[in-house]
Amino acid sequence: MKTPTDDAQVISLFEEHVNPALSQVMKFIGFDSVEVSAQGCIVRDSQGREFLDCLGGFGTLSLGHSHPRVVAAVKDQLDKMAFSSRVLFNEPQARLAARLAELAPGDLQFSFFCNSGAEAVEGALKMARLATGRTRIVSATGAYHGKTLGALSVSGRDAYKLPFAPLLSDCQQVPFNDAGALEAVVDERTAAVLLEPVQGEAGIIVPDDDYLRCARRICNRAGALLILDEVQTGLGRTGKWWGCDWSFENTDCAPDLMLLAKTLSGGVVPIGAILGTPPVWEIWRQNPLIHSSTFGGNPLACAAGLAALEVLEAENLIARCARAGELLKSALETAQAQFPALVRDVRGRGLLLGVEFSHPDLASLTVSALAQRGVIVAYTFNNPTVIRFEPPFTISDQEIEWATRAFEEALAQTAELIEGLLDGMSEPHEVREADPKETV
Ligand code: PMP
Repeated sequence: MKTPTDDAQVISLFEEHVNPALSQVMKFIGFDSVEVSAQGCIVRDSQGREFLDCLGGFGTLSLGHSHPRVVAAVKDQLDKMAFSSRVLFNEPQARLAARLAELAPGDLQFSFFCNSGAEAVEGALKMARLATGRTRIVSATGAYHGKTLGALSVSGRDAYKLPFAPLLSDCQQVPFNDAGALEAVVDERTAAVLLEPVQGEAGIIVPDDDYLRCARRICNRAGALLILDEVQTGLGRTGKWWGCDWSFENTDCAPDLMLLAKTLSGGVVPIGAILGTPPVWEIWRQNPLIHSSTFGGNPLACAAGLAALEVLEAENLIARCARAGELLKSALETAQAQFPALVRDVRGRGLLLGVEFSHPDLASLTVSALAQRGVIVAYTFNNPTVIRFEPPFTISDQEIEWATRAFEEALAQTAELIEGLLDGMSEPHEVREADPKETV
């Protein structure tokens, strides 16, 4: 077996055995070295270069890379018991479910654990069918719920969906943040309405505060479940515990199912979770193994989850996220004011921030110019006109300064490159539908 010893070797192994097309894209952007370590917001490559991680593993690293308390909790669990018999009771799983029940809105008393966001979505679609005896799922255009067949069926971008058609039948999509459109389609055939509290991959779209309240009312009237996908917005990312807290706070509104993944285990061990209410959980009485996952709820992931929740509270990180988010957003707005022909909008909540360009190519050029300055960002999966800033909540004021200085320089570089073409590009553009073969 070949053992990689240098960058060229690792990259060639990646090209030969992982994904040659993706390798070309990564190298083109400027991500052309091998990562070797990371702490907090900083990633180091094999050349000793430091990158400021403003992508945070697509919103996974709210505590920063390798938070020592989470890593220690995992090591401790590893020494005690690395996996599970899967037949005896598992303490970290039970304790994490109990803690989530305390923290979650409404009556989300139960948790089913899995290993990713898409898997949480798949499970929720099955649960909604079983709990209601109906099949129809209503979701929003532009939505992103993952890339498995069921999750794709309720997601929004043709480039990822059409190559795999036919997908699940009986899925309907309506414009996001349009309660009237939702009301017009949700009826006694609807099993569930599935929404993100802030659409992430659609380009960081923040709805009106009463949108989710309306969705809740519409679901109640039709006897449909409300499923909130908090995979990206949950656990503090928007500056409150839950993305839906912006709508539901001080009301008795809450979803029937809530989906978590990404940051739940501090970015140390893969995890996903479906939180649900007692009435929905009645489905398990028919058959306690009606849905299952070998690695779901494994002790390493759940020990990491418990430690990550402790860190969020002990270090007051959600308040820090809200404050850092304000600082970063206003710095991005200052940059926008300097380059109005390039940047159309800066928006978002907490540290889920999006910068919308007047053309997707301008976004790509700026991502690349930021990479040259050691700042990692990426465009939103379903909308390449928007680049997102989703750094760890632990980002310092100095690191925010680094990010914004680099952003201003990157915009200047992009502007210089396309000077002369800008006049023709200043009209608003539709979101470009990418080639289905496109990989990132
Ligand atoms: N739901 C949302 C809202 C997401 O943002 C994502 C990932 N970006 C997913 C689901 C899918 O998660 P995963 O990649 O872990 O399957």
